[in-house]
Amino acid sequence: LSDNAGIPVTLSDHPAITADRAHVWHHLTQHRRFETTDPLVFVEGQGLRLRDAPGREFLDATSGGVWTVNLGYGRASIAQAIHDQLVRLPYFAGTAGTVPAALYAARLVSKMPGLSRVYYSNSGSEANEKVFKMVRQIAHRHRGGRKSRILYRARDYHGTTIAALSAGGQPQRAAQFGPLTPGFVEVPHCLEYRRQWPEGDYGARAARAIEEVILREGPDTIGLLCLEPITAGGGVIVPPEGYWPLVQDICRRHDILLHIDEVVCGLGRTGAWFGYQHYGVKPDFVTLAKGVASGYAAVACTVTTEAVFDLFKDDPNDPLGQFRDISTFGGCTAGPAAALEVLRIIEDEGLVENAARMGARLLDNLRALQARHTAIGEVRGKGLLVGIELVSDRGLRTPAPEAAVQQVVAEALARGVILGATTRAIAGFNNTLCLAPALIATADDIDRIADVIDRSLAHVFGTADTRTTP
Ligand code: PMP
Repeated sequence: LSDNAGIPVTLSDHPAITADRAHVWHHLTQHRRFETTDPLVFVEGQGLRLRDAPGREFLDATSGGVWTVNLGYGRASIAQAIHDQLVRLPYFAGTAGTVPAALYAARLVSKMPGLSRVYYSNSGSEANEKVFKMVRQIAHRHRGGRKSRILYRARDYHGTTIAALSAGGQPQRAAQFGPLTPGFVEVPHCLEYRRQWPEGDYGARAARAIEEVILREGPDTIGLLCLEPITAGGGVIVPPEGYWPLVQDICRRHDILLHIDEVVCGLGRTGAWFGYQHYGVKPDFVTLAKGVASGYAAVACTVTTEAVFDLFKDDPNDPLGQFRDISTFGGCTAGPAAALEVLRIIEDEGLVENAARMGARLLDNLRALQARHTAIGEVRGKGLLVGIELVSDRGLRTPAPEAAVQQVVAEALARGVILGATTRAIAGFNNTLCLAPALIATADDIDRIADVIDRSLAHVFGTADTRTTP
């Protein structure tokens, strides 16, 4: 939810709203707005539907605000799987394993040919930090200290901790928190709508830009390239044709490990099991978090190859031969127990296919809206990860004002649909509405989301609204 998503109503005396206003510090929120509006406090949900404390109903097009609750609300079988596991064995961390962690690791890698090892932790940021630490340890132990630097891409996001922020291509998120971690180097983004090079094959040009950075910085200093398969929070950027195979080739030629951050895209969101599988890429690391337990538990996975794993096992300079790292709550069994049930549901209900089908319907609906709304600069996405870049001048591609984007989100909320937005104030980029409904979305859900966007854009931008109701 973007920052001014409160609905202006009489300040409530509902006990949860009163307590929230008095004591909760919300993420990414300017709290002054709660002097005149109520914070949204949700009580319960079913499928894509949420009910808040005053009893209003909403259709959630964000999967819990930040593309997480991929299977929707009210999944009793996931809760039951967690319950059954916790009463049996809630936790053990460190050198010993647990049954659900072992079984989930095997199930997960069966969907990821070429990858075979799963390292558990509990957030996307942490899963990414594990990769950075693995690469640094490999550099120190096997490469004479060389190849410890890490490339990340402008507009990508990899998490909130200081090293993950240092790998973040969204400067607004990091600007307040310096000094950042050294050894991270930015490469240009690949959003064709915001062309950085005037002409030519954009996929090839954007990939070559990565190689130019590698050559400038020195290939023997770079150990890792970390990318989102499809950039999510940076404005929903689907890479141009031909980009990914070239990126893979660049990594191979310069002996750079490839890390794909699937924290948003993983587990069906984009209409494939994993985002990278649209592009035939073979990563050395994949990180997963949000969709793993669909928000029912906190669990993240750093997945890698046997070749990377062996570098730790066979470390000639260290008789213990180990990755010098631990994650305390990587040992909680609620995560893998939930994740096993999530995987079963995705398969049994055909949700990867549904995400592809419903995503295509959403893109079609939204592209049809472009004819009526000049504020829609571009609609882009894959599966149920969709962005609408808003502009105030379509010809010049002038970004829409921040306040207008916030107002669209507020108008949609007032009409009962929860939208996301990535804005200049949050991420530093052109303003984009973000849609990521749960993978169980039906055609009716998709049509309603598009309809409410239609009405909200008409209200805010005054574009031709052919509908009769507000
Ligand atoms: N990677 C990506 C692509 C993300 O979008 C996010 C969170 N939005 C993260 C990593 C960080 O995940 P977490 O908030 O669980 O640390």
